[in-house]
Amino acid sequence: MRIGIPHMGSLYIALKSLFERLNVDYIAPPLTTQRTLSLGVKYSPEGLCIPFKLTLGNMIEVAELGADTIIMPGSYGTCRLGYYARTQAQILHDLGYDIEMVQLGVSEQKFFGLLKIIKRLANNAPWPRIISALRFGIKKMNTLDRIERAVQKVRAVEMVKGTANQVYTKALDAIDRADDYRKLKEVEAEYTEQLDRIDRNPEAKPLIVGITGEFYVVLEPFSNFDVESELGKLGVEVRRTTFTSEWMKFSLFLNPLGINEKDRIHKAALPYLKRDIGGDGWESVGEKVLHSKEYDGLIHLAPFTCMPEIIAQNIMPRTREDIPVLTIICDEQITKTGMLTRLEAFVDLLERKRRVGIHNRQAVTV
Ligand code: SF4
Repeated sequence: MRIGIPHMGSLYIALKSLFERLNVDYIAPPLTTQRTLSLGVKYSPEGLCIPFKLTLGNMIEVAELGADTIIMPGSYGTCRLGYYARTQAQILHDLGYDIEMVQLGVSEQKFFGLLKIIKRLANNAPWPRIISALRFGIKKMNTLDRIERAVQKVRAVEMVKGTANQVYTKALDAIDRADDYRKLKEVEAEYTEQLDRIDRNPEAKPLIVGITGEFYVVLEPFSNFDVESELGKLGVEVRRTTFTSEWMKFSLFLNPLGINEKDRIHKAALPYLKRDIGGDGWESVGEKVLHSKEYDGLIHLAPFTCMPEIIAQNIMPRTREDIPVLTIICDEQITKTGMLTRLEAFVDLLERKRRVGIHNRQAVTV
């Protein structure tokens, strides 16, 4: 069995470590590129969202490398994601790839569902080995996310733009190569120190901009033209509550115990939206309300044709809690130049608002 899983941010590093420890043949897809997008667009129904197209592109690339089993997350609810694994499997079969599609319904089966799937993929490996491999994979994911949080802060104030990203790229590689807990700890300490040593502008008072929106486009930099790095170049500090490690902690372990990290966000959204509308639409509205005093502005990432985010986009300008929101529609038609022009205009607006204390309602859509 040769397993492939579509990309989503740096998740492939944790997955690689998990499967290596279980002696499962795992093939990481090549990093997502324009070719991945072109393949996804070519073979997807036109009206589907960018997560479908990019993950399909990853699947084709990993099938070309010999994967015969592909894992695709799915969920119940009002979003189309629940149907994607089946549709993508059909497209791959039509293209002549003999693959088995394993749908990971994490939302329904939580931690025990995940364990059962890993056990099957790992050829019935003993439970202690599975738990140990999973623990180490989760540890890697936590380390990756802590380093990324540190990078988000440094990008905004570094003297030489791009330095934090260079350290980050090396940190990803070192975390990938770390093969035990001691080494992982050393790598984290080393790269945290390297980030701390980066020259910063002592006068900088960065704007704080939150990133919210649909889970995949928030976490997969290719799908949003690495909007966080671009904001860093403009001297903006990015705040984001969605991280893969946090999602795993709650979705797999705490939600089944009745602890829901989203309760606070949902409560904040209640005056404007009373129920789940699928995907992450409810959370997008709640994030705007919840962080309106803490952030200077909010970037809302919404895949084209994504109904939950379309609803959220229409509610956001009507909330009493007032911060400027820039909605960026992510699809294959968006160009980097177009996005940068809008980001620059948005940051100009936020700087002016901070300078003169304008409290007008501002909402911009790209
Ligand atoms: S939430 Fe939106 S973008 Fe994400 S899978 Fe569902 S429809 Fe597509």
